[in-house]
Amino acid sequence: MAKKSSNPNLDPKKFRDSLSSVANDGSRNWVYAKQVNGYFYKYRTYLSWVLLALLFSGPFLRLDGRPYFLFNIFERKFILFGAIFWPQDSHLLIILLLLFFVFVILFTVVFGRIWCGWACPQTLFMEMVFRKIEYLIEGDAHQQRLLNAGSWTGEKIVKKGSKFFVFALFSLVIGHLLMAYLIGLEQVITIVTHPPSENLAGFVGLVVFSSIFLFVFSWFREQACIVVCPYGRLQGVLLDNNSIHVMYDYVRGEPRGPIRHQIPSTGTQGDCVDCNLCVQVCPTGIDIRNGVQMECVNCTSCIDACEEVMVKINRPTGLIHYASENSIKHGIQKLITNRVKGYSLVLVVLLSIFSALLVTRPDYEGTITRFPGLTYQARPDGTISNLYSITLINKTFSPQPIQISVEAEKMKIEIVGNSNWILPPQSKFEGRFFLVKDQATVRIPQEKVLINLSAQGSVFESVQTNFMAPVVTKKTE
Ligand code: SF4
Ligand code: SF4
Repeated sequence: MAKKSSNPNLDPKKFRDSLSSVANDGSRNWVYAKQVNGYFYKYRTYLSWVLLALLFSGPFLRLDGRPYFLFNIFERKFILFGAIFWPQDSHLLIILLLLFFVFVILFTVVFGRIWCGWACPQTLFMEMVFRKIEYLIEGDAHQQRLLNAGSWTGEKIVKKGSKFFVFALFSLVIGHLLMAYLIGLEQVITIVTHPPSENLAGFVGLVVFSSIFLFVFSWFREQACIVVCPYGRLQGVLLDNNSIHVMYDYVRGEPRGPIRHQIPSTGTQGDCVDCNLCVQVCPTGIDIRNGVQMECVNCTSCIDACEEVMVKINRPTGLIHYASENSIKHGIQKLITNRVKGYSLVLVVLLSIFSALLVTRPDYEGTITRFPGLTYQARPDGTISNLYSITLINKTFSPQPIQISVEAEKMKIEIVGNSNWILPPQSKFEGRFFLVKDQATVRIPQEKVLINLSAQGSVFESVQTNFMAPVVTKKTE
């Protein structure tokens, strides 16, 4: 018979009724995850070093002086692998996002939550940075439990204080890193090196993001995966019986029971010795033996813990391993299911659309609008002028002179400021110009005109706009 867990949420019959980290009275059930060592933990640690190095070096990577990645949602400017996506490219970004979602769905249907356990920044920082610092300062789960239960001695104040200080320091670093991805490294350096009053919005952003990270990693922790993360909450609809995830082999493990109660070679007892180690190491506080659960982030800690037990009691390893429900129950592992084929097809279609749009993306773009609040200006020399704003974008990697001309009778263009429009590579330019016409030639109050924008000798954009002017009728004697 299964040993009764001290945590009611781990009761095999009731575990789906409540969250393991929330007590029955609604209070927090603090999860003290026991430190784990083992094959998977070792490789997760190595991978985390690589991923953290990539994450932290991202804002420093430069291509022709611009960042490799930028996700400036405030100015709707995005840079992916050095290529700038302007607000005019929103359709490309939407398809890219759809591509990403379909890829994530497809990957999850086949491989479950491997992303969560191995590469998600939340897990990386929580398990590979903050949890390690906590072990270093406060000790393993048992010592942490004792420390929290004990009164505020000098030792507790020092340990808690130093943990808070280091956590705050790392949260500040992560907050600045996120801001560097959002607004660019140069902007972050400017905010940091100038008084807060000079960049108040940026300064507030840094403080808010750093505080959120401190809150998440010091207190909120596994709740971010269980309660907040939409990807985690979607697992119920994404996974099926063929999806691979961390699973307890109940066929081999049950009926479980302490090793001292087992009679060798009778075959009546499963391989699980009910040592509870897989539960003790779980960062979300669940019992993997209850089956696939939304709270499981596939961190593999329970695999490592159980492998150690199996080796010690001289039984085959792999009682908890990467598997699918079907492979455990029926011994069949099917990766290419109809669902997988369907999602793959959608992915290929989206990828083709995206590639076609990317290849046919115009090199230059221009928008022209009438200057807001103005109709026309009557000049002393007898001409009428209208003021316009122009935005030009050069998406190529070379500087480009842009010419402007107007298709309308007896009308000319007067550029405000420097009329030599040479756009640097991958840049945006904003300027103004007048359309000017002799009052004597004005026949209608609102004339439609076509303005041509050219580069390299050919017109890349023709913009239609209005020219407004008063119609003066000649008095008859
Ligand atoms: S660690 Fe392995 S043997 Fe121990 S309770 Fe978990 S599944 Fe059973
Ligand atoms: S059940 Fe195992 S894999 Fe899932 S979160 Fe807990 S320790 Fe990690």
